[in-house]
Amino acid sequence: MNKKKRILVSSCLLGEGVRYDGKIKRADMVLQKLQERGEIVLVCPEVAGGLSVPRPPSEIILGDGADILDGKGRIINRIGEDVTDAFVRGAHDALQLCRQFDIKVAILKARSPSCSKEMIYDGTFTGTLKPGKGVTAALLEREGIEIFDEAQIESALVKAGIRF
Ligand code: SF4
Repeated sequence: MNKKKRILVSSCLLGEGVRYDGKIKRADMVLQKLQERGEIVLVCPEVAGGLSVPRPPSEIILGDGADILDGKGRIINRIGEDVTDAFVRGAHDALQLCRQFDIKVAILKARSPSCSKEMIYDGTFTGTLKPGKGVTAALLEREGIEIFDEAQIESALVKAGIRF
C-alpha cells in the first residue's frame, strides 16, 4: 500500500489563530482541500516553542535564522525580551514533525522570523526587509527539506508529488 504523501504548512496559512497579532487570515482554498484529504501537517513554530497568542512581534537582531542556529545571533521582541530559545525550540518541533511524517516539502509563510525562506525584517522594527531566512526555514533546509512560500503553492505540490 502506498504511504500517504504529506506536506508541512505554516498554521497561519490555513486560518489558524496563531499569528503574533491574533488576526486570522483567510485560508488558501487549495490548501484547505488538501487538509480535508489529510495531506497537510500544520505547524506554528512560535506557538510550538511556547510563545502566546497574541504576542509582541519579534525580529532577528543581526544575521538570520541560520546564524541563530549557529548560536551567533539573538531574537528580540518589540518589548525587548529575548525569545531566541522559543524560536529554536519551535524550529526543532517542526523538524520532528517532518521526520515523523516523512515530509520533504514545506510551504511556509513569507517574511516571518520563523517561517520565511528568503526575506526577514531587519531587527530595527521599522518594517524594513533584508535577505535572510527564518529560524525554522533555515533548520528544515539544512535537513534537506525544500521550502516554498504561499506564492508558490502549486510548485510545492508538484515537487511533493501531491495532486491538487
Ligand atoms: Fe506561526 Fe510561522 Fe505563521 Fe508566524 S508565520 S504565525 S511562526 S506559522
